Amino acid sequence: MTKHPRIPIPHTVRQYVFERDNYQCQSCGQQSPQTNLTIDHIIPLFQGGTNDISNLQTLCLTCNVRKKHHFDPRFRRQFGS
Ligand SMILES: [Zn+2]
Repeated sequence: MTKHPRIPIPHTVRQYVFERDNYQCQSCGQQSPQTNLTIDHIIPLFQGGTNDISNLQTLCLTCNVRKKHHFDPRFRRQFGS
């Protein structure tokens, strides 16, 4: 069942979000090129979030992985508690 298919974020949108957030992680404040920046869905797609720029923020890879681990029940099940 693919109610919310994962649609790739267009390059231009990624660029817009990075520039809006000043190439800075919105969680820990680290900036590129100190860290690997990623685009994060504030409301995850599986919870009904969209690819709209209002739902996107810049997170470094560390914070993004940490957030996924916290929010995604599939991740937790796969790796145990
Ligand atoms: Zn961070």
